[in-house]
Amino acid sequence: MTDIDSLVADMTEWRRDLHRHPEFGFEEHRTAGRVADVLREMGAEVSVGIGGTGVVGTLTRGRSNRAIGLRADMDALRITEVAGRGWRSETPGTMHACGHDGHTAMLLGAARLLANEGGFDGTLHLIFQPAEEWGRGAQAMLDDGLLTRFPCDEVYGLHNMPGMPLGHTATRAGPLMAAEDIFEITLTGQGGHAARPHATREVMVPACALVMELQTIIARKIDPAEIAVLSVTEFETDGTRNALPGRAVIRGDARSYRRDISDRIEAEMIRIAHGLARQHGIEAQVSYSREFVPLVNDPAAAEALAKAAEAVSDHVDRDAPPIAASEDFARLLEHVPGAFGFIGNGEASAPLHSPEYDFNDAALIHGARLFAGIARQRLPYTA
Ligand SMILES: [Zn+2]
Ligand SMILES: [Zn+2]
Repeated sequence: MTDIDSLVADMTEWRRDLHRHPEFGFEEHRTAGRVADVLREMGAEVSVGIGGTGVVGTLTRGRSNRAIGLRADMDALRITEVAGRGWRSETPGTMHACGHDGHTAMLLGAARLLANEGGFDGTLHLIFQPAEEWGRGAQAMLDDGLLTRFPCDEVYGLHNMPGMPLGHTATRAGPLMAAEDIFEITLTGQGGHAARPHATREVMVPACALVMELQTIIARKIDPAEIAVLSVTEFETDGTRNALPGRAVIRGDARSYRRDISDRIEAEMIRIAHGLARQHGIEAQVSYSREFVPLVNDPAAAEALAKAAEAVSDHVDRDAPPIAASEDFARLLEHVPGAFGFIGNGEASAPLHSPEYDFNDAALIHGARLFAGIARQRLPYTA
């Protein structure tokens, strides 16, 4: 049996150590080293350098050919921590403001529970991915053969949720988190004197019209029963007060839960930008890219996650409302069925990506038990 007090003490020590030494996406060298060491100590087979700094630990028990992937993320953010905690970041300008330190520690905790106690039949791949915040790490691991070298029948992931009480779990079947698309529209004309607009093909007025017109995509081109958001977040011009700009760049972000809706937003954006440009005798160039794909939970896997959660949580919400934030785990779900869920980080927690945020160490054992429960349920041991 595992001594739970000493497991909690170790997870807390790992978590705070990672918190003190945060590393940005694809730079998680120290973190990956620490993860690999802990996995080796418990007898897991360890592969490093997958997709850059990714790590996979493998545990096999029994004879079943089934395999499950449990995934955590390791990267930090470029945010300066404002906190006087003893384990605060020692790297200026970088901090674990999304709790990936906690996710890594709780998956290591689950690995130790499973390595010590077994209770599963088959193969477990413990996947530690880099660069979640960029939406690049999962793809990098996939491109490096993640699912061919470590084939998984199903994959599961967890994220902490500020504001949700400790010990609570939430998930849902179907779309849970949004796709994030980013766009940049460049309008080009001919600038000139602010007092002589007729002698220019200036872009300020068309660019302002474009910002307004883009709002009609969600309001008039997307089914009101669907969820989609489009936000223009940057507006850049030549920046001279008494001159009309000949160039303007508009940037923003669009979120949706289905690929066909994302495609529709892109197509409408191109149509509107080129139409407006023609109308004003200027040129438009649209670049549209998909940073995160929608996260869609397999119904059976979401039910398995909820069932495992019931055994270790105070409260399980099977019908959590979809949230508009994005998650790189979604890339794995494009290839393998699986599910993602949220665990409470406590009602007093600062929000994710806030300089005051900290993963709640009291959630570590909940996460570890939940991961272990999912593994045992999906790789049932039959004596
Ligand atoms: Zn984040
Ligand atoms: Zn995160």
